[in-house]
Amino acid sequence: MTSKNDILFERAQASTPGGVNSPVRAFRSVGGTPRFITRAEGPHFWDADGKRYIDYIGSWGPAIVGHAHPEVIHAVQDAAARGLSFGAPTEGEIEMAEEICRILPSVEQVRLVSSGTEAAMSALRLARGATGRTKIVKFEGCYHGHADSLLVKAGSGLLTFGNPTSAGVPEDFAKHTLVLDYNDPQQLEDLFARMGGDIACVVVEPVAGNMNLVRATPEFLQAMRRLCTQHGALLIFDEVMCGFRVGLGGAQTMYGVTPDLTVLGKVIGGGLPVAAFGGRKDVMKFLAPLGPVYQAGTLSGNPVAVAAGLTTMKIIQRPGFYETLTAQTAKLAQGLANAAKDAGVRFCADAVGGMFGVYFADRVPGSFAEVMACDKEKFNAFFHGMLEAGVYLAPSAFEAGFVSAAHDDAVIEETVAAARSVFGKLR
Ligand code: PMP
Repeated sequence: MTSKNDILFERAQASTPGGVNSPVRAFRSVGGTPRFITRAEGPHFWDADGKRYIDYIGSWGPAIVGHAHPEVIHAVQDAAARGLSFGAPTEGEIEMAEEICRILPSVEQVRLVSSGTEAAMSALRLARGATGRTKIVKFEGCYHGHADSLLVKAGSGLLTFGNPTSAGVPEDFAKHTLVLDYNDPQQLEDLFARMGGDIACVVVEPVAGNMNLVRATPEFLQAMRRLCTQHGALLIFDEVMCGFRVGLGGAQTMYGVTPDLTVLGKVIGGGLPVAAFGGRKDVMKFLAPLGPVYQAGTLSGNPVAVAAGLTTMKIIQRPGFYETLTAQTAKLAQGLANAAKDAGVRFCADAVGGMFGVYFADRVPGSFAEVMACDKEKFNAFFHGMLEAGVYLAPSAFEAGFVSAAHDDAVIEETVAAARSVFGKLR
């Protein structure tokens, strides 16, 4: 019998390039047919054949309270009934901005947008506008959305597809993006010594999740902070993934390093399109309508999306939320590592808050090169074994995984039991 997923994929490819609206969904890296999802609830989703999966992508981060959380759904329905979009300000947007400023130590003012790409692109323009400088520094394997200047040696789908830099990005743009190795403070020192006066900003994922999960070392982030301050460059933390994910206060709170600007997305929209960038008031004042840096959006601060985001943000602030999320994610990582060890498979796992990484390697990678050295073929076989067993992992060896508050002990145990059986066949 042909799977409905196969039929839908065939049909999708006729009207959409590759049959998907975002590349990693296409299973190109792992092979096979993408699953077309019909509904989701708590830690699960169901595909077009009615098969249930334990979901470890959580919409690539947003679904931190679990899918279709009743309070979030209620807030969305309530907001939708009052109108979908006004193109004029609402009180909800103020509340959202106040919440973000209250929770994140570095953010004094914030602007809401609709995607992480838009937020990172706007933060970059703001940094250039505020400093009057052109060069930006990023790190290989970090992904900051698909704005031209940021698609240079980026992670995520670009790694999956093996394109270090996208076609269609003029060399004239790319040449202003200086790419260094992640977790190498000496390279930063050297670069700033050479051209510190030209650098508008350094942008980094302080916990990287787009080359699998890679933690920054404290020394790396501290060096970045010190050099930016010394040379008048702005430090931008891209916390689209790790913000409200590694802990309530994001990576900046975890590391105690204060960026000038922060880029946010995913969790703050609770599954609807909300992203944001914010930071020092004296930098944010350069934005239109106050200042000369232009940025705008028809659906920015959309009332329905903000209702989903605000409700999600209320839930994650309840006592014990991150303690439980962190414990469950650690339990998963440990359980997978134990299962692999018992099966004699070269494997390790790491977890930070509600994010995790799985690596077919002897130790947890601390650099892009170490991630690249992991056994991708083994990952692909593991991915398909788990998928068959009803566990949906990110369909690429270069993406982090996500646990939600709905992943209880039973769900984690079911996952580890499935992994035990799959590892047994991998050796
Ligand atoms: N920055 C980071 C760190 C991300 O992980 C992502 C998306 N995975 C983005 C930016 C881009 O966000 P979006 O997909 O919403 O444009």
